[in-house]
Amino acid sequence: MSVLLGAIADDFTGASDLASTLVKGGMRTVQVIGVPADDNDMGNVMNNAEAVVVALKTRSTPVVDAVRESLAALNWLKGLGTEKFFFKYCSTFDSTSDGNIGPVADALLDALDDDLALICPAFPANKRSIYQGYLFVGDQLLEESSMRNHPLTPMRDSNLIRLMQAQSQRPVALVPYGVVRQGVDAVKTAFGDLKGRSGYAVVDAIDDADLSVIGRAAADHRLITGGSGVAIGVAENFRNSGRLTGTVTDFHSLPHGRSLVLAGSCSETTRGQIAHSMQHWPAYRIDTGSLLLDTADTTTAIEVAVEMALQQFDAAPPETPFLIYSSADPVEVERIQLALGRDAAGVLVESILAGIAREVLDRGVNRLVVAGGETSGAVVSALGIKALEIGAEIDPGVPWTRATIRSRKLGQVDIALALKSGNFGQVDFFERAFDQLAGYLG
Ligand code: ADP
Repeated sequence: MSVLLGAIADDFTGASDLASTLVKGGMRTVQVIGVPADDNDMGNVMNNAEAVVVALKTRSTPVVDAVRESLAALNWLKGLGTEKFFFKYCSTFDSTSDGNIGPVADALLDALDDDLALICPAFPANKRSIYQGYLFVGDQLLEESSMRNHPLTPMRDSNLIRLMQAQSQRPVALVPYGVVRQGVDAVKTAFGDLKGRSGYAVVDAIDDADLSVIGRAAADHRLITGGSGVAIGVAENFRNSGRLTGTVTDFHSLPHGRSLVLAGSCSETTRGQIAHSMQHWPAYRIDTGSLLLDTADTTTAIEVAVEMALQQFDAAPPETPFLIYSSADPVEVERIQLALGRDAAGVLVESILAGIAREVLDRGVNRLVVAGGETSGAVVSALGIKALEIGAEIDPGVPWTRATIRSRKLGQVDIALALKSGNFGQVDFFERAFDQLAGYLG
């Protein structure tokens, strides 16, 4: 087996976002969860994969762990005979001044013995664009967007050169929009000029045509770093060279089961989606404030929270999707974080949602949407999922995927799973996700 593109993603929703882009670009794509300990665990899903995305959970871990795991993923991908590598991070460049984007990219370049990688988190379909090195979310600078208040990686600067330079050992330069507009050859020349002088080239991009230019200009780069948008051009390179035969995953044999949304993202987008779906579906809000602040011991707090959510789930009509969420506004999130610490609060809430996911699987849920990158990571780990086959896209960056899971009560079950980055999707995302799936399944 020989893989054309091997990607390392720093969170789970980011991995499926990238995988979805690659599928749309015609690449048969598999997403594996963590670095597989044993390749035999992967079953048949790896057969004929043209792109393999390794989903890590390294966005907010200590730098040394992020570097170690990313290098382990690189080595595993190299073992598959991978030709080209991609380091995928968030389209809002979620990171702190300690990392982890800079240190991981540095380590990957070292390990590949390469000296220049592009940096392009732009994702026009989701309104992330880069101009003069500044990252915009819609018409706002990153630092003025709701990312300013992200629970784990608040983004208070919008300049990608400064952001990357603070984290990396190598000089960072800009390939401005004026060059990108001139086309593939001009960008290639700019990359050539930077070689030996800079380790990274932040490249401006405003629409998908720019990403296609950038991807083609980087056709001979061994490592590309960016959001999923720039993968459009990477897939295009392989397609144009006639090396792809891709087909998307078939969901038709999925048996009937219950549908659930688990939301841990506190983003404005997800909170809007929750409010929208609550007009149609029963929902249960995990009262993180009273549970986590009033219960002395965390294990008990988690158990009580899981149990309370399950009681509501069991009482709900099984034919209607159900929604369980911890998502809260910035004031409520800050109150808990001040009391428990930012990371501890995040992990606690993730543990509750992951605990619920484990239990509902035994209760017949086999259509599951998870909202939130870290939350998705926690849920996927808790369910012991090793690989996801990537199906059709619901909204930009969020595909339906399919996985085989071992339920403690039901044995081996197939589930459809959508992992949504907090900021992604239109306001009726949850409703359309299940409608789309019903459409496939007839
Ligand atoms: P996004 O994709 O929007 O970044 P994530 O799941 O990655 O969403 O991050 C949200 C973080 O906020 C998670 O660590 C989650 O556990 C935490 N969280 C969720 N609900 C609450 C809450 N009510 N109070 C504090 N933290 C919360």
